[in-house]
Amino acid sequence: MKHSRVSLFTAGLFLALHFTVLLAFVTGVSWTYLAIALASYYVRMFAVTAGYHRYFAHRAFKTGRAFQFVLAVLAQSSVQKGVLWWASNHRHHHRYSDQPEDIHSPARKGFWWSHIGWILATDHEETRLSSIKDFARYPELVWLNRFHLVPALVGAALLFALGGLPLLVWGGLIPTVALWHGTFFINSLTHIVGKRRYLTTDMSRNSFLLAIVCCGEGWHNNHHFHQNTANQGWFWWEVDFTYYALRVLSWVGLVSDLRLPSEETKLAFTRYTDAQRAQLQVESRYGMFLPQPAAPAPEPGLMTPATSP
Ligand SMILES: [Zn+2]
Ligand SMILES: [Zn+2]
Repeated sequence: MKHSRVSLFTAGLFLALHFTVLLAFVTGVSWTYLAIALASYYVRMFAVTAGYHRYFAHRAFKTGRAFQFVLAVLAQSSVQKGVLWWASNHRHHHRYSDQPEDIHSPARKGFWWSHIGWILATDHEETRLSSIKDFARYPELVWLNRFHLVPALVGAALLFALGGLPLLVWGGLIPTVALWHGTFFINSLTHIVGKRRYLTTDMSRNSFLLAIVCCGEGWHNNHHFHQNTANQGWFWWEVDFTYYALRVLSWVGLVSDLRLPSEETKLAFTRYTDAQRAQLQVESRYGMFLPQPAAPAPEPGLMTPATSP
């Protein structure tokens, strides 16, 4: 198999931005700054999970052209490349999850590659437009995807103009670095840490802690089992901030047609045989070790019920 190369320029820039969080020693810290950082983190995490992931990658709900643009701008302010790049790579992940073709499988290439290596790799810089034709027909999204740093740069300039260095550091730099790792956990840890409720052809897992950090995306095993739902927490105890916010937005008419899993899908695990339950247990223990060995080959009859975006 061909080896991927990490772009030293992108990796250097990425590392350098991590050091900007040390500017907190210059600005000092206060409860107000912490509240600003938390708000900046969760508002943009919502845009990443509801926008990049559930809407653009999976079309789990509907919205108008104006609000889809707002979601894309807000998500791109998290400096995770363009909307079409993000969503098309994510569709690729579901198509090949934990198989050799998966570009960020911890089961195949280890934790660090799945967490950050693949994003810095020169192989994956291009947008797979053939996988995202449905949104590539909007010129404003194509423009945004091409000039993907514009929302972040404009946002940074606005923060600096409004509140100087403290607002730039606490409203921009610190929460952006946290957002990177919060989002990247969805590619790395949600295939490593947690429990498997559903038999899928990958190693996806459910984790309460990651659901809090990632606005509901910690219910990743649910998600791989049935991808197109607007909620990823399927039971009342499965906290999913993104879905709660989508419900509120649906009440005011900004989004509509939120897709939900059927009761039959949610309760599929209750119909598993003893052998299938035992297989889930074995997989859960096995998945706690890092780096993971190669994932097992998919078994016939255990495919996820929904595979198209
Ligand atoms: Zn996954
Ligand atoms: Zn997904």
